[in-house]
Amino acid sequence: MKAPRGRQPVGSVRARQAPGALDEPRVRSKHVRAVQGRQLEQVRRRERDNFSVKTRRRVASRAGYLCSNPSCRVMTIGPSRESIDDIATVGVAAHICAAASGGARYDRAMSSKQRVSIENAIWLCSTHATLIDRDEIRFTRDALRRWKIEHEAYVEHNVGKTHIREATASLGGRRISPEAARIAAERTLAWEFRLFAQLLRDEIARGIDEARYLKYSIALRKLRHIEAGELLSAVRQEMDAANMIIQSFARLMGGPLIEALGKSRSPEEAGSPGDADLLEFVAHNVGEIHRQTIEWGLNWLHVKCKWKEADRLLSIFPRWMSKIQDSISQISDRIDRIYEDALATISPTSPDYKAVLSIELIIPEEDINAVTTEIDRLAPLLAKLG
Ligand SMILES: [Zn+2]
Repeated sequence: MKAPRGRQPVGSVRARQAPGALDEPRVRSKHVRAVQGRQLEQVRRRERDNFSVKTRRRVASRAGYLCSNPSCRVMTIGPSRESIDDIATVGVAAHICAAASGGARYDRAMSSKQRVSIENAIWLCSTHATLIDRDEIRFTRDALRRWKIEHEAYVEHNVGKTHIREATASLGGRRISPEAARIAAERTLAWEFRLFAQLLRDEIARGIDEARYLKYSIALRKLRHIEAGELLSAVRQEMDAANMIIQSFARLMGGPLIEALGKSRSPEEAGSPGDADLLEFVAHNVGEIHRQTIEWGLNWLHVKCKWKEADRLLSIFPRWMSKIQDSISQISDRIDRIYEDALATISPTSPDYKAVLSIELIIPEEDINAVTTEIDRLAPLLAKLG
């Protein structure tokens, strides 16, 4: 590594020689200085394959001088007040596979040349540069490569544009959360899955109180009394309504969702406009289905029948719908896992990259059986009642 040049305050030497850091711009942050200084002592003793200044500048520039961790992206460089031409940086050209044996993700099979090549470098803020070396299980070589690919796609997409925080906060004429707006504006790899999961999460969050009333059987409305004689026809009517809700869900998942996701499938298209409006339409209507499901369950929670034999049947419905609303509310997390798995097993730059989403709403058979059994038991009793 080259000796630091130019003016340097006492105490900053170590930081300026930190592994992977640029010679210039200098590291000025006291915190960064301390963290990197400590680490440096441990690594300096070993043989290291360090990046050249040119490689570090290139990897930093390709990252737009932003941390390449997709959930961080802090700006790593700026002016320093120490002098008119000084720069402050908290960025590090980190090794994907360690520069020296004993380091994180060290690969014996790699040559020195491969270790110092730009392909083995990722630009990170100092916090994440430290973190990736502390946890090799979480931050695998593949995971870091994905960060890099995704981040460079993000930077490429944003070159020549105004800052992404100014992204529009509405889709399809409806307001969306800042988080969803950010995903829609950034359009990094698999953005369409992330956007749908986020929009859905926001929709589900709106029905959170009602979902809890249903889950904990909190009945705050006026009770509806029904006669024993009306019971079975009321049940049949309501079952038809429930079926319609579930069929609508299947239609949304089968048509518009596939269409909206399909518009940006290939890696070349990742980061290109897909159908964000249509994704919002699907998410909004799944949210609507979620609310209707809860409403259906809550209605049964408020039905009372003087005929005691009806109690068991009436108690099935709120529990049943509570389960269904629960599975709808878990869809977002499931989607997150699906695309994470897809990205983990297939390189997003491979032509095979395709993440298929298939979501079904299944009514557990035991619930259907419970309803049928109860109706079969009650029908002859009702016939006797006249
Ligand atoms: Zn970071």
